[in-house]
Amino acid sequence: MKKMALVAHDHKKSTLLAWTSKHLSQVRQFEIFATGTTGSLLEKELGLSVHKFMSGPLGGDQQIGAKVVEGSLDMLFFFWDPLAPMPHDPDVKALLRLAVLWNVPTACNQATADLLITSTLLPDYQPERPKVEERLHAFKN
Ligand code: PGA
Repeated sequence: MKKMALVAHDHKKSTLLAWTSKHLSQVRQFEIFATGTTGSLLEKELGLSVHKFMSGPLGGDQQIGAKVVEGSLDMLFFFWDPLAPMPHDPDVKALLRLAVLWNVPTACNQATADLLITSTLLPDYQPERPKVEERLHAFKN
């Protein structure tokens, strides 16, 4: 079963809930991970089964980042809020950086999320894992 992570900042939670509800049959085909409050809402409102991490400000974004690094996350839906300052802004940036580094399909708004979840490539798609060792070696020497 492929794995997805869902995260929404407070002003984006209703958007994520509506989006998830709209794509419920597709979303149900994934094992779902989420930050604490987002995960609780998905369970309560939509009856989904969710592996819940800590709340974002308490380190949940970083826990999702760890899954990205391990190569055990297939997609990330991260509805972050561009209009609100966040105490955990560095964690948000760190998660987005890791998702780009490890070539994890990532949607940060509803339009991209719509396109990603409905992609006909989804069932068989295996993103290439980047070969970062050479670059790291060059950087360190
Ligand atoms: P939350 O965390 O799901 O616990 O609200 C999301 C975030 O702020 O990154």
